[in-house]
Amino acid sequence: MRSFDFVILGGGVSGLGFAKRMTEQGHSVLVLEKEAVVGGLSRTLVYNGFYLDFCAHRFHTNNRELLNEVLALPGLKMTRHAKKSRIYMFGKYLKYPFELQNLLRAMPLNDSLMAGLSFAWNLIAKRFRRATTLESYKDWFVHLYGRRLYRIMCRPYTSKIWHTDPANISADWAEQRFQGENLKRLLKRIVKKLLTLDFSTYNLDDDSLAPDGGPFYYPRRGIQELPDALAKCAMENGAVIETGVTVTDVSLGEQTVTYARSESQELASFGHLISTIPLGAFYALQERRSPEVEQALAGLRYMDIIFVYVFLERAPLSNDHWLYFPDSDIVFNRAVEFANWSPDMCPPGKTSVCFDITAFADDRDSLWHAGDEALAAQVLQDAERVGYLQRSDVCDTYVFRVRQAYPYYDLAYKEKLDTVVQFLEHGPVSLLGRTGMFQYNNSDNSIEMGFLLADRFLSGEKRRSIYQATVKAVSY
Ligand SMILES: Cc1cc2nc3c(=O)[nH]c(=O)nc-3n(C[C@H](O)[C@H](O)[C@H](O)COP(=O)(O)OP(=O)(O)OC[C@H]3O[C@@H](n4cnc5c(N)ncnc54)[C@H](O)[C@@H]3O)c2cc1C
Repeated sequence: MRSFDFVILGGGVSGLGFAKRMTEQGHSVLVLEKEAVVGGLSRTLVYNGFYLDFCAHRFHTNNRELLNEVLALPGLKMTRHAKKSRIYMFGKYLKYPFELQNLLRAMPLNDSLMAGLSFAWNLIAKRFRRATTLESYKDWFVHLYGRRLYRIMCRPYTSKIWHTDPANISADWAEQRFQGENLKRLLKRIVKKLLTLDFSTYNLDDDSLAPDGGPFYYPRRGIQELPDALAKCAMENGAVIETGVTVTDVSLGEQTVTYARSESQELASFGHLISTIPLGAFYALQERRSPEVEQALAGLRYMDIIFVYVFLERAPLSNDHWLYFPDSDIVFNRAVEFANWSPDMCPPGKTSVCFDITAFADDRDSLWHAGDEALAAQVLQDAERVGYLQRSDVCDTYVFRVRQAYPYYDLAYKEKLDTVVQFLEHGPVSLLGRTGMFQYNNSDNSIEMGFLLADRFLSGEKRRSIYQATVKAVSY
């Protein structure tokens, strides 16, 4: 039996960030990853010469130290981009993040006037409103932008991705998504832009898009290069990273983990265990049981996601990094064209697009259970209808499904999560990461969480949990 100071379940960027930090300080670390490669949600598939991320994966952070550390990772070369994205509404491609004048001009005149007035009225009324708790995402949005714009800007897309009304989604999701935005600055920008005339067109060839989304970094051949670089650093410092393994048992009493690799059964002991895997999966592996926790776990859902990749024999379709499609009669949520992220993502003369569809695999009548051909056909039909592509240019499609991609924040999630985390972070166990801690965050936050937890151990702090520690999230 091999012994390690730390065993980490899951080789996503949070676990790898933790492994990097701890091995730098001379600790022994074993990472156990069920997939054939590290990276988790920040993984890149390779298909017939195309490099395919799970939808968009831009790297951006407000934490300068973290950015410098990531950019300095050996072997990782990232290019700086200015985000270009648009949203398809009213049959037009609008700027996104929204520019109010661009949005209002696209709307029917009457709606546009009412929405403008409602927004202005809300700005004034907000000052006199009694402070109340903003419980749902709907409350949060209405408070900020008014009811009319809520119905246009928020409800369609949010209902589409979460399969429920924004009134049923916790305001924490907004906090997670928009913490990085300085809201005062955002409002100031909107009002300032309202006063300017906007003559940009609404078609896909328009190159006059304001890069309001801010800068981000992206590697040459997919986001996979980021987890690979973290793993390389950790391994150079002595970490053992096992991929393609099946963890079969965790004994907290014995402080051991059992896992299967090819034909052999392995046993490793740990001083401390870090779990970055889904909460229910970790609960099932360890020996303690509690009906109360099982009930809470049953109420904590992750949203699953289907990626339909489309390959085309032609030059890029647009100049955008990605496009949003809130209309409910369009099957996909977003379209991400990889050639605009890096020319090395596609073979010469070809382009590829990832269309994503959120679904709950557990729902029997969910699209999750539709066949690949039917999904691809529906995506192509809708994409052609909105003038995005022509089916005659398509040379191939590929469908890939990912379970537990998004923590689903219903209104009561926090209470349930508190119960589960309190139970699982017992003895030598710490939870970590987006999936492991049910925290809707980006890859930078996940790495940051890994570093933060490592710092807790290294500084000898008693509390070896980062649950509810503030790691700033930025919208995407
Ligand atoms: C569609 C989509 C788009 C995104 N876009 C962006 C973006 O543009 N920018 C950005 O910064 N972030 C983005 N993110 C978020 C980013 O992917 C995550 O924050 C980050 O990858 C999470 O890393 P993690 O280590 O916390 O979790 P994970 O990546 O989920 O890592 C958990 C690991 O555990 C492994 N595992 C699971 N079960 C077991 C088991 N039983 N035994 C062993 N291993 C197991 C998994 O395979 C995985 O490798 C996006 C996420 C999604 C889903």
